[in-house]
Amino acid sequence: MSLDVAAIREQFPILKREIDGNPLVYLDNAATTQKPQCVIDALVDYYTTCNSNVHRGAHRLADEATRHFEAARDIVKDFINAPKREEVIWTSGTTEGINIIANGLGQLLSPGDEVITTGMDHHANLVTWQQACKVSGATLKTVPVLDSGELDQSAYSALLNERTKFVAFPHVSNALGTVNPIKEMTAKAKQVGAWVLVDGAQGAAHGRVDVQDIGCDFYAFSGHKIYGPMGVGALWGKASVLANWPVWRTGGEMISTVTLQDATWNVLPYRFEAGTPNVGDAIAMGEAIRWFSALDQDAVAAHEKALLDHATELAERFEGLTIIGQAKEKIGVLSFVLDHGHPADIGFLLDRQGIAVRTGDHCAQPLMARFNVPGTARASFSVYNTLEEVDALFAALKKVRTMLA
Ligand code: PMP
Repeated sequence: MSLDVAAIREQFPILKREIDGNPLVYLDNAATTQKPQCVIDALVDYYTTCNSNVHRGAHRLADEATRHFEAARDIVKDFINAPKREEVIWTSGTTEGINIIANGLGQLLSPGDEVITTGMDHHANLVTWQQACKVSGATLKTVPVLDSGELDQSAYSALLNERTKFVAFPHVSNALGTVNPIKEMTAKAKQVGAWVLVDGAQGAAHGRVDVQDIGCDFYAFSGHKIYGPMGVGALWGKASVLANWPVWRTGGEMISTVTLQDATWNVLPYRFEAGTPNVGDAIAMGEAIRWFSALDQDAVAAHEKALLDHATELAERFEGLTIIGQAKEKIGVLSFVLDHGHPADIGFLLDRQGIAVRTGDHCAQPLMARFNVPGTARASFSVYNTLEEVDALFAALKKVRTMLA
């Protein structure tokens, strides 16, 4: 079945915008996706009808808010096929999810222990582990990236040993679009008994995730990249691992008992949810996942592949353009440089024609250094993009290259 893209576009009010008289062509979906009306409505409904603090109120609004908030947790649980709802922790996004685990890890590691991350990680999944290693005296190792934009799997195997305590890698590279073989990578790490965290910021937006099938210990993702609001996300962790993981943020809600000198911690998931949660956004994130999950996932994948294939074909024929990242398995991300002009100039001149792409280092400075580029221009596709928009990108890019030459 193919995707009814026209009907999908109708649900996104922002796509009707014009930029300087040009129709908006939004190709910056890896940075954040736009929101369908039902997600916007979910947020407005929450604040219009039942805004209240959750779990502690003895009144109707608090009851309703708690019910919707916890129902959204169940939606996340089902979406990632988590075995238990208490394994789903609300966060402010992928970055916070990773920080929760990295902070605890810093307390669990000792000098001589090793942590492995990759040369394609977003800073959120790199600087965090650098810090955990710095505070604990552990050593950070890196899986190199091949010219294709894939991880060097034999180098990864060679890095794993009995000192490896933790491995973190991205499900999908935000800068290159590479889909990593996360199940195989997890299995290898498990052979040496390491904990595994998958950065799912880009993975979750492109199809259902099955954390049980992956076999990892932790999976973190953000609401805003999967048609939900900003400022909310989810961290999944195996209950058996999370139950003993050191807490990071302390305060209300995450405690069980408190005396003037000491405190004991609450049960999962609340022991990792200190303070008032982002209730309205969590509910709207649940609505976003419900909306996305209702789409035919095979059709979504086929549509994104068609967009990427078309863009790649046009890019390969485009004079002076170099694609950065040509992995066999990719989501709809086309990262590139031109022979003339800095990526920032490309972005600026595309914007003048209504085309929104991302330019820069994509929070992956080591990866840009690996490819010896100052940054790239990145077009990233989503369910509501069309082949005509891909054509519009390249027509606009033609003008850009003429201007920059
Ligand atoms: N990891 C990857 C691969 C990402 O693409 C991003 C967002 N660009 C993050 C982590 C951080 O996500 P957030 O800013 O939503 O916390």
